[in-house]
Amino acid sequence: MKLKTLPTFGRYLKAKFGVKVAKIPVGLSGFTCPNIDGTVAKGGCTFCLNESFSPNLAKDAKITLNLKSTQNPLLEQQLKELDLQIRTTQKAMKMQGIKKFLVYFQSFTNTYAPFETLKTLYDKALSYPDVIGLSIGTRSDSVTDEVLDYLAQLSKTKEIWIEFGVQSVFDQTLERINRGHDAANAKEAILKAKAKNLNVCAHLIFGLPGENQEMMLTTAREVYNWGVDAVKYHPLYVVKNTLLANQYKAGEFAPITKEEYAAVLTMAIEIKPPHILIQRMTAGISDDTLLAPKWCGWSKNAMVAYINEALRKAGWKI
Ligand code: SF4
Repeated sequence: MKLKTLPTFGRYLKAKFGVKVAKIPVGLSGFTCPNIDGTVAKGGCTFCLNESFSPNLAKDAKITLNLKSTQNPLLEQQLKELDLQIRTTQKAMKMQGIKKFLVYFQSFTNTYAPFETLKTLYDKALSYPDVIGLSIGTRSDSVTDEVLDYLAQLSKTKEIWIEFGVQSVFDQTLERINRGHDAANAKEAILKAKAKNLNVCAHLIFGLPGENQEMMLTTAREVYNWGVDAVKYHPLYVVKNTLLANQYKAGEFAPITKEEYAAVLTMAIEIKPPHILIQRMTAGISDDTLLAPKWCGWSKNAMVAYINEALRKAGWKI
């Protein structure tokens, strides 16, 4: 059987820039999320424990920004944090032979701050040698025309990506996970970003409470049709001290098994138009905050090997 080549983000970047490109994840004090600070809701998405991917943030945040903030007393501190995170990660990655980088504004909602703050931070990130672009993680209800226009302007000379958490196109699911926006809002923001020629990556979660395989594939199909350029697929996993953990303990849903995940992922990739890149195929957390499913606590290598094997069996070259 002739294997089909998987259109991964890594392959795309290597072909475009001639060398391996890595993301430098950053998380800055002062950023929060409208689904946490009470603007849209409090408590956040049921699965969200933002400290789990940025442990130095959130807990001690006394000042947080939003779209209407008129001052940013944290800007100096944010610039220092950004500088430290970029330099430290770049140094470590360069020792592994990586030569070019995208700065990934990952934690919380990275367009949820006054425009001048965002512009200063994005510009600063782009000022480092060997940083060829940015990836901005955000929510569809938190992007202004001003910021999209600025990113579109930057994208004329830099590699600029905007990442939206979509998760599901089913409003009953989005309500159940306390997402704070509906699928129409996600679609509208993505279409708007695409109309400005921005590169868009959508995050999808498989295994959300109440969803079966058909619903997960419907989500994938619809989001592909919105014109996204890339996707990140994640299994839903349950972390301690979240609303989802309470629902899991109450037996309200069963976590997705590794077999179910591999099956739905393979099918989602089969129905994906070939030009849509794959930025990520799984996720997990390997510490004792994980409640379920246990396979999401496997080492990254073990998880990637398992997924790759499933894809190989389906005829994909990794
Ligand atoms: S949008 Fe992101 S940061 Fe905000 S509550 Fe949901 S998962 Fe957490």
